[in-house]
Amino acid sequence: MDDNKATIAMLERRVAREIKARKQSEEILNQKSLELYKANLALVDSNQALDLRVKERTQALELAKKNAEQQLALNENANDRFTLAMLASSAGIWEKNIIDDTWYFSDRLIRLLGYNEAQLIECFDQFSFVHPQDLRNLKSKVIKHVKRGAVLDVECRILTGSGYYKWFWIVGQAKWNAKGKFTRIAGSFSDIDERVENAKTIQKMAHYDHLTQIPNRELFNQQLDTAIELARAQQSQLAVLLIDLNDFKLINDSLGHSVGDKLLQHVAHMLKQSIGPQDLVSRLGGDEFSIVLKNITDTDQLIFRCRNILKEIEIPITDNANSLRAKISIGVALYPEHGVNRGELLSNADLAMYQAKKTKSKGSQFYLCEQSLIDQLATRSRIGKDIYKAIKNREFYMMYQPFVELASGTHYMVESLVRWQHPTLGLISPVDFIPIAEESGLIVELGELIIEMVISKVPKLMQGNGLGRLSINISAAHFLSPGFLRVLTENIDKYPGSAKHLCIEITESVVLDNLDLARVVIDKLHRLGLLVSLDDFGTGYSSLSYLQILSVDSLKLDRSFIADIDTCKDRRTITESIIKLAHSLNLYVVAEGVENSKQLDYLLDYKCNYVQGNYFYEPLNEDQLLEVQVDSLHYEVWNDEHSGEGPNYKEQL
Ligand SMILES: [Mg+2]
Repeated sequence: MDDNKATIAMLERRVAREIKARKQSEEILNQKSLELYKANLALVDSNQALDLRVKERTQALELAKKNAEQQLALNENANDRFTLAMLASSAGIWEKNIIDDTWYFSDRLIRLLGYNEAQLIECFDQFSFVHPQDLRNLKSKVIKHVKRGAVLDVECRILTGSGYYKWFWIVGQAKWNAKGKFTRIAGSFSDIDERVENAKTIQKMAHYDHLTQIPNRELFNQQLDTAIELARAQQSQLAVLLIDLNDFKLINDSLGHSVGDKLLQHVAHMLKQSIGPQDLVSRLGGDEFSIVLKNITDTDQLIFRCRNILKEIEIPITDNANSLRAKISIGVALYPEHGVNRGELLSNADLAMYQAKKTKSKGSQFYLCEQSLIDQLATRSRIGKDIYKAIKNREFYMMYQPFVELASGTHYMVESLVRWQHPTLGLISPVDFIPIAEESGLIVELGELIIEMVISKVPKLMQGNGLGRLSINISAAHFLSPGFLRVLTENIDKYPGSAKHLCIEITESVVLDNLDLARVVIDKLHRLGLLVSLDDFGTGYSSLSYLQILSVDSLKLDRSFIADIDTCKDRRTITESIIKLAHSLNLYVVAEGVENSKQLDYLLDYKCNYVQGNYFYEPLNEDQLLEVQVDSLHYEVWNDEHSGEGPNYKEQL
């Protein structure tokens, strides 16, 4: 029994030991399983990471491959494009590799320049094909560019293989390596010859007068400005000469425009001959030329040089059988004495030329500007500024100068003459302000004021005292302006019956400005009951042919004829002819500016109808005119011998 118990106990101990051992083994197994599990997990993670990296690398490689393929395609396209561009471009391409000293020239460049490759290498290396005048500029631009200073972009003349220079536009671009060393340069040549030549032609057309081939006004202005700047810097003097041909219009009208053109060409040529290489000559337009004489040392030298010009101009132009000699008037202004800029010099030279023109009957003349002329100009400019205000303030008044009728010896007609009482400058003569009013266009406003002033005086001065007509001077611009007849009619309507006491005096320039319109206006004036007189006759166009076309009633012979009548036989002949002709056209003639009895005697002989001048009456004011009784003054000047000549004037009046 005991043995059994012992055995059982032993077995129980064995079982217990085995259980314990198995538990320990299980624990160890569990432990190991856990470790294995963890190791497995780590392995899975690691594998996954590896997979990811492989995948990423694969993608990267694929992308790189794709990029490489695209780049290859692009490069192929670029190459194609470059080749196509080279073929299509009108420019020739060149390149130099500095490292290995090799050149590349496109076929187009070879054709453009007309050299083979070997010749081109020499030309490029030595710049030997560049025009000498362009060489410095091109070289300096290349050097600046290579030093990274500026773009290489230049226009220059290149001697081509055909032996002619042509204009090319050259651009270039250099390359430098990482260390900044210049390694390559490439660029192009474009043929711009036609464009440059066209531009030069346009430039010439814009700056040169096509008829005479000398600089025109625009280039002259630029050159004069530069010359003034230089004279200022060098403190030297220069002279501006304004030159105008005398009676050029007459030459054009009588001999034709082709002769006129030849004369202008001849004058331009002779003026060029007469000046030094530093001096400038130009045609400002029409028959007006200008010269700038540089480095004037003194007045004697200037006068000598001006005389030289006149001497050259004296040389005649021979056209077929005709020999024609140009006559010129020169006005001279000096820098800095008569002006310090172009405007002042030209306007003062113009003043001087006007003085030279006054003596044009003596042939070619020059006149040096004087301070007194400049002062006159200043007054003119003051008048110009003040005239508008003067019209508004009615600073004008009228004077009256009667005409004497030679047949009866009485005064019968009266001319109204405007005067300006300037508040500070005092009395200003119409000779001074009318031209300025005409230039400024204010002549219309002034003329309307005069019409109003004169017509308002008709009842008092003319009606009922036996006087015939009161004449009003109307300038050409005003006469042909649209408002003239309207304003005249309005004023006549205010003073009924005044029209038959009025006469309008116009100058020949009206006819020149617009003959057809002048005829229409004159007809309307006649219908209103006014007379029309042609003033200053013989000074302007001097053509008698239009007298037949225009139905004017009388001529007023210019005072210049009367001034010379007792001393100049030619003047007498012309005066007599004009009076005869006027009578044959049924016009009466008024002689202006009669100063003495000798002049009067001639006019009596020629049966002139009316005379006007200080020998009889100076311009009178209103009261003085009223004191003159028509019948109280009888100049017994008309005798039986003269009676019956010419038209019946009083009937017309
Ligand atoms: Mg007059």
